[in-house]
Amino acid sequence: MRALFILLLSVFTLSQGRSQSHLTLIYTGSNNNVAGAVQKANEILNSTFFYEQIRKIAKFDHSSLTGQQVADRMQSASQQIRVVRKIKPIANASTKTSDKIKISRSLFGLDSTGKFVLSIAVNTLIHETVHAVDFLNTGSEFTHDGNRSDGQENTAPWMIGDIAERMVLENRQ
Ligand SMILES: [Zn+2]
Repeated sequence: MRALFILLLSVFTLSQGRSQSHLTLIYTGSNNNVAGAVQKANEILNSTFFYEQIRKIAKFDHSSLTGQQVADRMQSASQQIRVVRKIKPIANASTKTSDKIKISRSLFGLDSTGKFVLSIAVNTLIHETVHAVDFLNTGSEFTHDGNRSDGQENTAPWMIGDIAERMVLENRQ
């Protein structure tokens, strides 16, 4: 009985340690497109290759931090971020805190013809994750202006989202 208790305790401790050790997106809804995109985004957030690509970026617009510094912040963040549905969609997603990403089901992951594309959805989730990590502090250290990508391509959320999108398209881990 006592051995069983110790075994259960260590299994619990191990699983706690694993789930707390890195950025993780959590989705408990029933939409398969969202669930698939969240799973893929979590694989990317666990990928060494992903952080290597971020570290190659010397500077971002609207930030004084290097790719190395932003990658370090993302890799050291042991944050669980819930992906929830946005009630009144204006943009396809928005993030204003470190623990919640709001997505619009009617706009999330869609290409210009209105078709759901996994790589676009993952780009959005990783872009929003960058905002969430920024919100572990002020939320303004590595962000962008406005809701459109025009002229904002070289900011951290857009560049890092694009890295994730390319990884999905090239099927990289
Ligand atoms: Zn953004």
